[in-house]
Amino acid sequence: MRTITAEVNNTKKKKAPVKGMMDNVMEQFNSAADHIDLHPNIRKILSITNNEIIVHFPVKMDNGEVEIFTGYRVQHNNALGPYKGGLRYHPTVDIDAARALAMWMTWKTSLAGLPYGGGKGGIQLDPSQYSQGELERITRRFTFALADNIGPEHDIPAPDVNTNSQTMAWIADTYMSTRPPAERTANQHVVTGKPDGSGGLEGRDRATGYGVFLNIKFWAERRKEKLKGKKFIVQGFGNVGYWAAHFMEKEGAKLVAAQDAFGSIRNTNGIKVEDLYNYTRINNGSLTGFPNAFDLDNEKFFTTECDICIPAALGNQITQKNAKSIKAKLIAEGANGPTNVEGEKILLERGVTIIPDILCNSGGVVGSYFEWLQNRNGELWHLDEVMAKLDKKMRESFNKVFDYSEKEGMDLRTAAYCIAIRRIEKAYIQRGIFP
Ligand code: GLU
Repeated sequence: MRTITAEVNNTKKKKAPVKGMMDNVMEQFNSAADHIDLHPNIRKILSITNNEIIVHFPVKMDNGEVEIFTGYRVQHNNALGPYKGGLRYHPTVDIDAARALAMWMTWKTSLAGLPYGGGKGGIQLDPSQYSQGELERITRRFTFALADNIGPEHDIPAPDVNTNSQTMAWIADTYMSTRPPAERTANQHVVTGKPDGSGGLEGRDRATGYGVFLNIKFWAERRKEKLKGKKFIVQGFGNVGYWAAHFMEKEGAKLVAAQDAFGSIRNTNGIKVEDLYNYTRINNGSLTGFPNAFDLDNEKFFTTECDICIPAALGNQITQKNAKSIKAKLIAEGANGPTNVEGEKILLERGVTIIPDILCNSGGVVGSYFEWLQNRNGELWHLDEVMAKLDKKMRESFNKVFDYSEKEGMDLRTAAYCIAIRRIEKAYIQRGIFP
């Protein structure tokens, strides 16, 4: 049996090993598996990834030189259906991150009751260093290198950090162009998160952020509270952060601080979400220098007085280093893996509620499932219909997790994991292990 360990920095002698994202997800998994007394054979299966694809491929740059890129696709588990999950373009993408993110997708799709397994991948690069033409060639060549490792009934990528509907359109076009002629148009659902005019789903762009907002709303309803007047902070002002803030503001909540890759801003009287969004459009995507707020040291961002904190950027942002100073009563995880195990312990001891990533940001993959169905059935769904269906699905998941956590007296993350793992365990028990 292969064992999975995080990459360890061996240059620092006698220091505790540097924990990776995979350590985090494994600790979360093992703690839930202990609670439900998961069958040891199934624990073994779910502790490893089914397939790990690493491809190296050359791309012609604008200056005529050739650069070699490394792309990853990790397929964790497909007991419930085809592998599903995003592709991210970021300097932090490596095999450890891809494994952890793939595993989170398995729990997320299972919890949401979708007929999918979990996968994730991407390319280790900083997209701001490349032209649009270069990004198109990188994406197309990556798709070509992945070849039959992806497919509409096998492994279905989607947008993630720094990838978007344009990236998905290039992947779909490249994949379809390399199929035999009679199969080309039937393969549109090889990716989800495509643009509206190319098989995309109306509302898929806002699905993750809307789902984050809904989870916060359902939490408030359980406490018989209103979101009107509540203060919130958002880390990450990309697709997830922006849309979550948009819907929070619409409900009467007030954005008081925001952070992105460039810096942090704060205004305790409130920051208008649309004004901030428009400002980032004319400021190279950055929110720093926004005229109606103060620029803030990054370390002070999480200390902002607020009711709700929405981490919607990268993993490992809330840790033992800053968990004590967080003022929010609720953390709604828009990102994947934003809170590490040590940080979570501190927060739970302090009575802070965490709506875990695999529940909180699952609106995105639920939207992806709708898009996949739409393509498979040759249909076009309308925005109202999509949002209503999303609402229903998110409410069902939230209630399931919240009720289970109350019944079993456990935190929401452990409850979500228990439900997700149970569903996969059931499939293995029913089918047995080949041969
Ligand atoms: N990247 C998103 C996530 O982490 C969406 C995945 C999908 O739609 O397949 O959930």
